[in-house]
Amino acid sequence: MEGNGPLSGTPAPVGLILASRNPHALDSVACRIIGIPGDTVPTLSLAEERGLIEGDPVIVGDDPALLTIAPFRLPDTTRPAGLLMKLSRKVLARFQRGSRFLLPYPEILSSACIGCGACVRICPVKAASLHGRWAEINLSQCIRCYCCHESCEEAAILLRQGLLSRLILGNRQ
Ligand code: SF4
Ligand code: SF4
Repeated sequence: MEGNGPLSGTPAPVGLILASRNPHALDSVACRIIGIPGDTVPTLSLAEERGLIEGDPVIVGDDPALLTIAPFRLPDTTRPAGLLMKLSRKVLARFQRGSRFLLPYPEILSSACIGCGACVRICPVKAASLHGRWAEINLSQCIRCYCCHESCEEAAILLRQGLLSRLILGNRQ
């Protein structure tokens, strides 16, 4: 599946079966195939820091370089890996309120919303609510977990770049 998920992504059959004893090694190979730089994936960076991936994974089977899928549409939450982004994260992590301006925020696409309420039921902080036929999100309550975005089968919840993120990283939407 490519694009935003896990419910509303677009199926992208690749015809591969990947398996490994080391889940991080498997993720790094999968990322390579679909064109996600490993250092933009927090779990991979941390796994590397903790020594859970040692060097390049040994591939038994087809060469991933020959299997590269391009272009593969990445989710809207994908962030660049540059030094500026890392610094911004460190600085803003100290200021929870500030990080809200850096992280993408959910926005309801009212033309697609059918008022099913799935986002309301799943929101852990009750920031999503139904008003008439449409859902609404109270961004001052929202903790940017994106459960609503992932649970919406109508792809009616977009992820927009925050203001600070647009200023620092440029407009990518
Ligand atoms: S889950 Fe999607 S379709 Fe359902 S109420 Fe929320 S935004 Fe609307
Ligand atoms: S991103 Fe998380 S906290 Fe924010 S509205 Fe969606 S489910 Fe609620």
